[in-house]
Amino acid sequence: AKHNGRNNYQFFTKDIKENIKRIMLLENGLKKALREHAFHLVYQPQVSLSTGELAGVEVLLRYTHPVLGPVSPFEFIPLCEKLHIMDDITEWVLREACKQHKEWKEKGMVVKMAVNVSPLNLSNQRFSEQLKKLFTEEHCDPQYFELELTETSLSSHLEETIRILQELKEAKISIVLDDFGSGYSSLVYFTDFPIDKIKIDKSFVQGIPNKERNSIIIENIARLSKQLGIETLCEGVETEEQAVFLKKYGYEFAQGYFFSKPLSKERFEQKYLATV
Ligand code: C2E
Ligand code: CA
Ligand code: CA
Ligand code: CA
Repeated sequence: AKHNGRNNYQFFTKDIKENIKRIMLLENGLKKALREHAFHLVYQPQVSLSTGELAGVEVLLRYTHPVLGPVSPFEFIPLCEKLHIMDDITEWVLREACKQHKEWKEKGMVVKMAVNVSPLNLSNQRFSEQLKKLFTEEHCDPQYFELELTETSLSSHLEETIRILQELKEAKISIVLDDFGSGYSSLVYFTDFPIDKIKIDKSFVQGIPNKERNSIIIENIARLSKQLGIETLCEGVETEEQAVFLKKYGYEFAQGYFFSKPLSKERFEQKYLATV
């Protein structure tokens, strides 16, 4: 096909057209999705490495387009940001998480919920105020909730961001720095922001224990966090070897396919309701 330039060109424009069509379909679908119940949540267990017990869940958003089928959050979250509907999405996720938390509590299972927050949410000056209102309306106790933020959330408008985080903290909501080690993670995050927990990115976790330099960093982040009183959780744990290594170096919590994939509410209840 090397000399068949004309055909390649036609394939190429066909690809572009397909992509534009997909994005248009997705954007229209996403705008309607909250009304039409096209979103739902799944829950990935987080476990204590020392006891193996359930320590909480990460709440993950799922979207199924009526024509295109299931779409990855890696594809649809950036589109929601572009469409300026992230405030509504986060509010919906938090409200659903509150309802689920309450339902499980009534069934005798108190589950800590970790919810992802977009950098755009933190540029909303009234974010903490709106969150407090939501917890009051839902009669939900914020101390069982954690917000997972990435460092991009923290890099702009420093003063304003610190104010919002402090207000959240006063409202007993915990702050987790997500994907730690995936970007230009700096130790400034430990000193300038009121962070309760760091979540070590899966790229780090998946490099152990074969990459020696990686292991040295992993080991020292654990020590540093402990000394600073910051909790740790490792994401993307896929093998027993990784879990054993992380436990040995003093990590407290872990999450990943080795323990469990994200589960539907029903599957989660089947697995944990009887054991708690
Ligand atoms: P994240 O916050 O880093 O979430 C972890 C992702 O890793 C999830 O992908 C999870 O399913 C996946 N994962 C869990 N264990 C393993 C493992 O052992 N190995 C590997 N390779 N992957 C694992 P998911 O659910 O596709 O979500 C992708 C990203 O989309 C999330 O990354 C998060 O940034 C974003 N996202 C998901 N739900 C929400 C939401 O409700 N709000 C916002 N703002 N973002 C969300
Ligand atoms: Ca996360
Ligand atoms: Ca993460
Ligand atoms: Ca990640």
